[in-house]
Amino acid sequence: MSDLEARRAELAANLAETQERIAAACRAAGRASDDVTLVVVTKTYPASDVELLAGLGVTDVGENRHPEAGDKAKAVSAPLRWHFLGGLQTNKAGAVARYADLVHSVDRVKLAHSLSRGAEAAGRELTCLVQVDFGAVDPGRSGVVPAGVGELADAIAAAPGLALGGLMTVAPLGDDPAPHFDHLARLSADLRRDHAAATIVSAGMSGDFEAAIGAGATHLRIGRSILGERPPTG
Ligand SMILES: *Cc1c(COP(=O)(O)O)cnc(C)c1O
Repeated sequence: MSDLEARRAELAANLAETQERIAAACRAAGRASDDVTLVVVTKTYPASDVELLAGLGVTDVGENRHPEAGDKAKAVSAPLRWHFLGGLQTNKAGAVARYADLVHSVDRVKLAHSLSRGAEAAGRELTCLVQVDFGAVDPGRSGVVPAGVGELADAIAAAPGLALGGLMTVAPLGDDPAPHFDHLARLSADLRRDHAAATIVSAGMSGDFEAAIGAGATHLRIGRSILGERPPTG
């Protein structure tokens, strides 16, 4: 077996196991499996892995850094939806708007405006999620505090080239994630009173996606369970 074939077999097995866990969590929550979109987070892994995943039926991939994300999007020919998940400087927003289909990590009005200009210049529509931060220590560090969701959501909805998709969170490290995912679901219900199309609830990673499914997440962002542990970054 070639290295590529061995890697394909490894990814196929991990993907199948993860999909089974997702299906089981959906059954336990009384939800349909096709209610939930799996975004496979390929950060730090090569474009060849993204190609293999596409060949295994993956439709959505996530990346958290520019230019790594853009380089991979350029190198991969398979048709995929590219999700940008990471902290983003306004001066890189224009470049990200050229290849990303969704940005999960919009955390300030200024960034929304930069993404809007980039999407307009590229003639594309970019779906944006408001990232919410529930961290007890230093809240608002990555994401807006819950009270800030409405203002940022309105700014995205009003910005040319942007579509308001919904909400995203990363559960604070060390906390029980379930109450935070429930809180995100309540914020989503509030949001949909003003923005009916903003139905995306992006929550759940390798360590906590079952809890996210139980709370109603529509998009899971899963990396390590499928690709393997990432080497520590410096
Ligand atoms: C890396 C990352 C993930 C995936 O995390 P895993 O633990 O590898 O599943 C999800 N969301 C964001 C924002 C990330 O940066």
